Amino acid sequence: MPKPDPQKLRAFAVEVVERLRARSFEAYWAGGCVRDWLMGRAPKDYDVATNARPDEIRETFGARRTVAVGEAFGVVKVLGGRSIEVEVVTFRRDASYSDGRHPDAVEFSTPQADAERRDFTINGMFFDPLEDRVIDYVGGQDDLVRCVIRAIGDPQARFAEDKLRLLRAARFAAGLDFTIDPATRDALEAMAPQITVVSIERIAAEWRLMLVHPSRVRAVHLLHETGLLAALLPELNVIDQDESLTSTGRPADDAWVTTLEMLSVLAEPSFPLALAVLVHSFVDAQGAEAICRRWKLSNRETARTRWLVAQQNALVDAQHAAWPRLQRILTSDGIDELLAFHQAEAAATGRDTSHIEHCRGRLSLPADELNPPPLISGDDLIRHGVPRGKHYQRLLEAVRDAQLEKSIVTQQQALKLVDELRSTGP
Ligand code: ATP
Ligand code: MG
Repeated sequence: MPKPDPQKLRAFAVEVVERLRARSFEAYWAGGCVRDWLMGRAPKDYDVATNARPDEIRETFGARRTVAVGEAFGVVKVLGGRSIEVEVVTFRRDASYSDGRHPDAVEFSTPQADAERRDFTINGMFFDPLEDRVIDYVGGQDDLVRCVIRAIGDPQARFAEDKLRLLRAARFAAGLDFTIDPATRDALEAMAPQITVVSIERIAAEWRLMLVHPSRVRAVHLLHETGLLAALLPELNVIDQDESLTSTGRPADDAWVTTLEMLSVLAEPSFPLALAVLVHSFVDAQGAEAICRRWKLSNRETARTRWLVAQQNALVDAQHAAWPRLQRILTSDGIDELLAFHQAEAAATGRDTSHIEHCRGRLSLPADELNPPPLISGDDLIRHGVPRGKHYQRLLEAVRDAQLEKSIVTQQQALKLVDELRSTGP
């Protein structure tokens, strides 16, 4: 879905409140959008909380303009046209979390109870856009001014209810550059190992948000300090062991400093790029793939992360590499990310960047030079009377290398080379 226009989205979020109020319901903006609004940031989405029941919400906006996204949970999406939508949620309280992951049931309730079931004070406020008034039952405004992440109520109990909040605390603290209130932080550190009971999809979604965000280094630091990193990425635990070495024999603490430095210089990285940077000194390509599989990333993201870790040194000697080898890397799908990886590595270690400039120079070659159409294909080999078999790949690769090296330029020369290779080869 394309990003909605912030002004139009806001106008629609006001309209949704107006329509509910016109029918005498209570309705306010709620949660993250209030926090963002009070911080002077454009909310990326708006939630409206109301005492209207899901069926009453649907009646207010019409069945065609609403989608029940969790009617049992009291969530109705109201559609405002072209990627504009607002989620409307009935005030609710969560009834006990016996598994630390999901509420057992949801009861409709009052605005105050709805505020109190939210995670952190800064996420627990309502805003009335018609009267321009903040409704704050949990002290969120104070904490916003003091830049503090504080659990609503007893931190241990709140983390015990839903352990994803452990990770959310770190994400909000890092993303907003807030401190975590001491009692909340103590509970977080004490309970960090329990993060592993949360479904891996939710954990991976938090990782994604943290690693692509400009605050990623703060996030990783905080995860490390609180014990969440050890629970979620034990592959990196060597960084806490005295005088330990990485798999390539580098002192682990030294590799960790470089890793953080590299993470800090990435500009708008993809998730696979940021993840590859995070783990590249501590696991090999297979280990990186294992992490991606554990986190249930898509095949695409898994393949890209794995490839980046595998190719982490591939461009270092670019000026001296045989062109066919370099060409294959430069024409790979992930080349922009690989260059960004190398750029970050150079920035972090002070390595000079002539290898990167060499690659960029090659990448600016006209397409038919950088990646000329192959002179021959498997079909051509069949037509040329070459018996089918495994040697096809070897023949085609040899022809391709010769083409890239410009020692052959026509199909005729390519087929002649095939004949030569067949008379000398195995
Ligand atoms: P973001 O900007 O990352 O979307 P957000 O605060 O909007 O931040 P959401 O995950 O979109 O976060 O959730 C919206 C609101 O729902 C939160 O502000 C919070 O009030 C409440 N909330 C979300 N997740 C939880 C949770 N695990 N426990 C308690 N309340 C939650
Ligand atoms: Mg949100």
